[in-house]
Amino acid sequence: MVYQIVRPEGVSAHVGVIGGSGLYDPGIFEKPVEVKVDTPYGSPSDYIIVGEVRGVRVAFLPRHGRGHRIPPHSINYRANLWALKALGVKWVVSVSAIGSLRWDYKPGDFVVPDQFIDMTKNRRHYTFFDGPATVHVSMADPFCESLRLKIIEVGSKLGYTIHPKGTYVCIEGPRFSTRAESRVWKDVFKADIIGMTLVPEVNLACEAQLCYATLAMVTDYDVWAERPVTAEEVSKVMAENVERAKKILYELIPMLSGEPEPGKCSCCKALEYAIV
Ligand SMILES: [Zn+2]
Repeated sequence: MVYQIVRPEGVSAHVGVIGGSGLYDPGIFEKPVEVKVDTPYGSPSDYIIVGEVRGVRVAFLPRHGRGHRIPPHSINYRANLWALKALGVKWVVSVSAIGSLRWDYKPGDFVVPDQFIDMTKNRRHYTFFDGPATVHVSMADPFCESLRLKIIEVGSKLGYTIHPKGTYVCIEGPRFSTRAESRVWKDVFKADIIGMTLVPEVNLACEAQLCYATLAMVTDYDVWAERPVTAEEVSKVMAENVERAKKILYELIPMLSGEPEPGKCSCCKALEYAIV
């Protein structure tokens, strides 16, 4: 079999949270421990914090490492997803800061994307299956619909502006887009939000048969808007977003205490349907 999961002795989790820029420690854990997980692909971005949130075992991994040490193109995405899978995680909530490509997705809003466009280049590892096993997983609907709906429900209940759909264009980075590129993403591709880390995290989550969805936090309008923002503005919005994201996680996690329900998504069977 392709997966050889080795659980770090005595430690397991049911929900995984991958934190993005600004979210390095959710601060909502009871009895947290740090776990060093080694994988066949090397080390994840950081030690994984494992603890309980309202009775549910949760593993938290800061995508860029604490202190934002690892730029988007250098993240070991395979090690990150492998490590969560190795801990027994079934649900993965990915939190990330993104730019907006439309006026009505405002700084401070949340978006739960339902599609993506991959504009990353050739420096990332997009699959666990480099041969001889070969799989082609379906990416028609790349996110877990069941998890997406739960995130949207919680965000709405808390009174936050949370957009239930959006196409995320993932660029290579670490540089931002030129004005011309930004207009292409917005006007030609009709994408709604932009970031640098969704791909290949989402592909690998699918191959690992995890229920995966993204809580995207709008930090600013991308450069198309011709609306210069200061670093101060961006960091203020980001800090507020992170506090709201923590509240969403605190309400969401108890809703993920069960197993993914058959019929509501088929994430746990993604490889059964993969064309070989
Ligand atoms: Zn699912």
